[in-house]
Amino acid sequence: MNNIVAKVECRSYDLHKVERSIELALKQIGNIDKVLKKGKKVLLKPNLVSPLPPEKAATTHPVVIEAVIRLLKDMGIEDIWIGDSGVHGTPKIFSICGMNDLAERYGCKICDFDNYYTDEIFEESNKYMKRLPLSKYITEADVIINIPKIKIHHAEVYTGAIKNMYGSIVGKNKMQIHAKTQTKDNFQHVLVDVLNSTKPDICIMDGIEGMEGNGPANGKPIKTNMILASYNAVAMDIVGAKQIGIDIKEVGYIVKAIKRGLGPRIKDVKEIGDYIPVIVYDRPAIALKILGRVAQRLMPVFYYLFKPVPKFDPVNCTKCGICQEICPIDAIKMNTLPTVDKKLCISCFCCQEACFSDAIERSDVKKKREKSHGRGA
Ligand code: SF4
Ligand code: SF4
Repeated sequence: MNNIVAKVECRSYDLHKVERSIELALKQIGNIDKVLKKGKKVLLKPNLVSPLPPEKAATTHPVVIEAVIRLLKDMGIEDIWIGDSGVHGTPKIFSICGMNDLAERYGCKICDFDNYYTDEIFEESNKYMKRLPLSKYITEADVIINIPKIKIHHAEVYTGAIKNMYGSIVGKNKMQIHAKTQTKDNFQHVLVDVLNSTKPDICIMDGIEGMEGNGPANGKPIKTNMILASYNAVAMDIVGAKQIGIDIKEVGYIVKAIKRGLGPRIKDVKEIGDYIPVIVYDRPAIALKILGRVAQRLMPVFYYLFKPVPKFDPVNCTKCGICQEICPIDAIKMNTLPTVDKKLCISCFCCQEACFSDAIERSDVKKKREKSHGRGA
């Protein structure tokens, strides 16, 4: 059961079509009535990374959440929670992303993870962080439904089901963990640790429209026309990444999750349901990627020569100061524009994720000419 991923074609955010597609996908993974039972407290965990409206495709579309709520109600489940912790300003995110409206219309509980007492959850089998500052809503729910959005991630290549659970970490801890882990390898192990500690019961992917380019917050919407469902986040990401043209070997945290036994090996994943054509997502071309990694491992003293740092766009920047507030090691100073201390910067790009004005780029991203193509129709 843990290796099955159901794929159902869904070409628009029409509520009834989305509801039918999710219902079919859940039926295909089987035994859903054994997990979703009357009287359970069910937490929906969308991806609500930034205060951006649904048409920007940075966050899980509210129609997908609405369809899940309606299906749960049909099963007699009334205690439905919607929860997340965004990079910056979670209450505003709930409002802009349509979650408050849904909660009001369907009588769901809004769970701002940042406002509920942080529990240091202990998990012996974690590798890098045995104790994690997770929201108590995560521990108190009977069932967690992980509802990610399919997107390119500028640092981790891909974001879907595994990475969405990182939003279970409360508030600024999310940024501080970047400062603590320092290297990409360590951070990827923390992503897997969070999955291991939160253990979502069901995953439903909003793959109707994803984000390509400068994801996870400042890229472009692209249609992929699918809903995915699985009991296993790793299996879901193996299929999700493949559907947008990404080789799993490029996504370090998926590889680590497989090696640590949190999901099936690539060859053991069983895809069922509709045939969905692969749509290759455009992504930032990283210059000096390999050279940078070699320098980080072998010549840390010289690494700062190669390491990527944020570049600020004077036209788009609104001088809001959020990037400065977000930076876990105070590497950004606000002058007329933000400036970065290259020596201090740990290249986590939390600042880029938090900037919703598309004013931050990585210094190592090669400019590409705009392509005109007819993909994702
Ligand atoms: S770069 Fe973005 S987050 Fe930073 S001040 Fe400018 S608009 Fe705000
Ligand atoms: S400047 Fe940006 S990339 Fe550098 S450490 Fe701060 S948040 Fe991370």
